[in-house]
Amino acid sequence: MDKQAFSRRDMVQLLGVGSIASAVLPTAACAADQPKRKLGYAIVGLGSYATRQIMPRIKECEFARLTALVSGTPEKLERYGSEYNIPRTHRYSYAEYDRIRDNPDIDLVYVILPNSMHAEYSIRASQAGKHVLCEKPMAVSAAECEAMIAAARKANRKLMIGYRSRFEAHNRHAIELVRSGFAGTPALITAEHGFNAQPNQWRLDKPMSGGGSLMDIGIYSLNAARYLAGEEPAEISAMEYTDRSDPRFRTVEDRIDWQMRFPSGLIANCVSRYTSNHNAYRVTGDKGWVGLEPATSYAGQQMWVRANGKTEQRFVPALPKNQFVGQLDHFAECAMSGREPLVPGEEGLRDLRLIEAIYRSAREHRAVKLA
Ligand code: NAD
Repeated sequence: MDKQAFSRRDMVQLLGVGSIASAVLPTAACAADQPKRKLGYAIVGLGSYATRQIMPRIKECEFARLTALVSGTPEKLERYGSEYNIPRTHRYSYAEYDRIRDNPDIDLVYVILPNSMHAEYSIRASQAGKHVLCEKPMAVSAAECEAMIAAARKANRKLMIGYRSRFEAHNRHAIELVRSGFAGTPALITAEHGFNAQPNQWRLDKPMSGGGSLMDIGIYSLNAARYLAGEEPAEISAMEYTDRSDPRFRTVEDRIDWQMRFPSGLIANCVSRYTSNHNAYRVTGDKGWVGLEPATSYAGQQMWVRANGKTEQRFVPALPKNQFVGQLDHFAECAMSGREPLVPGEEGLRDLRLIEAIYRSAREHRAVKLA
């Protein structure tokens, strides 16, 4: 064996050992810093959002893992149970749901069901002693939201709503910029959300959805206007237009737009549609503006700002955790530490009260003053 060949092999071996060591060491160091146990999530409802967006990301969580599944479809329990290594003892039908109480591997329950089922399944999870993360809209009425908050409080467990944009880098930066006075004193918010609704789905069936585009997608315009404003509206005025001859809109609304006047004088113009695509917002002040488009999508947010007479795109660095992982981990951390979630049940309740006021205003063709 010549010296050069040996040294080359030697070097390759050294490099190999070195690269393994560098791959292992940081992980070991992180593991030592981590809490002893990751909290376990049970996912309730194995539909599109749960299986495509949430479940694949739980493995990226620092403080949580997927430990149980709840579904009315045995084939889904079998398929996703095998895919995610969930033991049969941790797969539940809806009839068996209350037995989650006896499973110590379930700390957190994430309710991702049609809107009209949110209240019942959240309340039963609280009664089973679990912390509850519930999808938006929190429920189909403010009264249901109040019952969910009361149940979580009685069980001394946390309740959070799936407002994922609050964990997204561009949205967080937009809030910071607006609060810092970058655009001056905010005078106008425009917020537009909509998509073309596919026929034959529970979203178009009012008893299941609680309402049309507003409950589903317009709620992003509403929630964004509130987190950008940093204050609560004093008055709402809404207008609806729905083509009732379109079979999709027999029971739910298509277009509903509304204005909100805030105590500071700031006015928000909000759009909600089931027949056209929108995903944008802008906050304009006396010195400039801050805008996102898309604003609340699953990925690909872009920000433009205007100040000193110049409009430019602003590149926002990614956060260490994407919005899905950030939300899941934040809730697990809150459950562990006892800290109040960034978007607790009360935040969902505020939106539902305003949604009820928007519907009332559109129905009665008058502005609704808010207490
Ligand atoms: P989906 O129709 O894909 O899934 C709903 C699930 O509920 C299905 O697995 C379905 O089998 C189950 N289900 C149980 N009982 C049912 C019944 N009686 N009728 C119909 N379905 C029933 O819907 P999705 O898009 O996953 O939405 C679920 C929830 O998640 C909704 O509240 C929605 O607003 C919310 N969501 C949130 C986001 C977000 O970005 N935060 C995105 C999509 C959906």
